[in-house]
Amino acid sequence: MRIAICGIATESCTFSTLPTRLEDFRISRGTDDSFRELYPFLDKYPDIEFAGTISAKALPGGPVEAAAYDAIKSELLEQLQSGGPFDGVYLDMHGAMNVAGMDDAEADLYSSIREIVGDDPLLSASYDLHGNVSERIMATLDIITGFRTAPHIDALETRERAMSLLLRCLRQGIRPRKAFIKIPVAMPGEKTSTEWQPGKRIYGAIEAQIDGRDVLDATIQVGYVWADEPRMTACAIALGTNEDKVSLAARELASLYWKHRRDFGFGAPALSVEDCLRQAMSDAARPVLISDSGDNPTAGGAGDVTYFLSRALALAPPDMIYASIADPAAVRTCITAGLGAEVNLQIGGKLDRTNSQPLDISGTVDAIKADPENPQVVLKSGGIHIILTGKRTPFHRRQQFTDLNLAPEEHDIVAIKIGYLEPELKAMSRASYLALSPGAVNQDITALPFNRIERPCYPFDPDMDWEPVVEIF
Ligand SMILES: [Zn+2]
Repeated sequence: MRIAICGIATESCTFSTLPTRLEDFRISRGTDDSFRELYPFLDKYPDIEFAGTISAKALPGGPVEAAAYDAIKSELLEQLQSGGPFDGVYLDMHGAMNVAGMDDAEADLYSSIREIVGDDPLLSASYDLHGNVSERIMATLDIITGFRTAPHIDALETRERAMSLLLRCLRQGIRPRKAFIKIPVAMPGEKTSTEWQPGKRIYGAIEAQIDGRDVLDATIQVGYVWADEPRMTACAIALGTNEDKVSLAARELASLYWKHRRDFGFGAPALSVEDCLRQAMSDAARPVLISDSGDNPTAGGAGDVTYFLSRALALAPPDMIYASIADPAAVRTCITAGLGAEVNLQIGGKLDRTNSQPLDISGTVDAIKADPENPQVVLKSGGIHIILTGKRTPFHRRQQFTDLNLAPEEHDIVAIKIGYLEPELKAMSRASYLALSPGAVNQDITALPFNRIERPCYPFDPDMDWEPVVEIF
């Protein structure tokens, strides 16, 4: 059996003016020695011939430039064309890509792949649960399975599940029947984590719907809310060999999600920037973690909005780490000035000009990480250690701080551009707050200028009625 592996994975905020360019993608090719390392589970199938083509991933941002998408897509299609025929294709996706000037970009990709490989091979995709699914996607893919955790601790497990489902269906000659129910609920990821209720209960209900025969798999997609596209929605999916059973499974999950729509909430007190800072400054515990959520780069924020930092400088907490502002020019200035130098400069507000403006600041260069790919510095201004980065950089791991001589647990406050806390950050925090800060991924979604999504949709239409409608593919 011959299986092709490919994918284009990103999450595109249509409210962001920061385009995602070709150079923002990390592109792995089947010819790279490291390609198989992305998919360690392949070693479990020595009898299968896997052909890596191209797997591209980009940090969430604004819409993907059309030329960038076309370039990756055509290379991917060429490799499928020249490397074929294939029995199946595994697609390593995210599911929330927006390409400038095009709706439903993933559906475009899958349709093009189908044209190249023909009607017989099965197409199986793994999704982030923050991906938006359309009817066209359901009609083109044979198998789709999504993460069941947020934070995403089951990413690799989900990829492996997409592969094992694909291989099982090919071996047993199954082309799954798929039930799809769009759930008209728009909810940010920060309210739908599976670490607390009701997300925990809803996602915990998936396993019981799968019997391994009639129902082979089930998925609930929260969807990606910062996408003003007609397909933006939550959904429930079930696939298997029995049409009635997959319909029932999808219906159960969709009804559960809908029933709890009013129960979703943030996992930490969600307050204004000033209130978060005041609370944290009066807290005895340390460190207190604060999420600067409106500019979270892993949700599509630019990563250089200065609002939170400007409020912090005004309130002057005695001991705080701020991670981070992406500003390559400011990083260069600090590196040139050298360790211990006093500098006056303007930082941030260059990538996201809608929600931010450059901030004048003076301070001391306190640490330098001379990474040629992504140089980083710490600028100490008053009691605040401000991390400046060459590239947009999410701070999810402790080591990213210690690389800059900062031990987070030894500081009073650690403020990070993030939404819900990733596991290492959660483990070190003694208290946490979520700041409702401005940015492209503002948590107040009802205040965003949506024009193209399907209505009615909760919470935009809070009193709407709804009954699940099953679509079978
Ligand atoms: Zn996600």
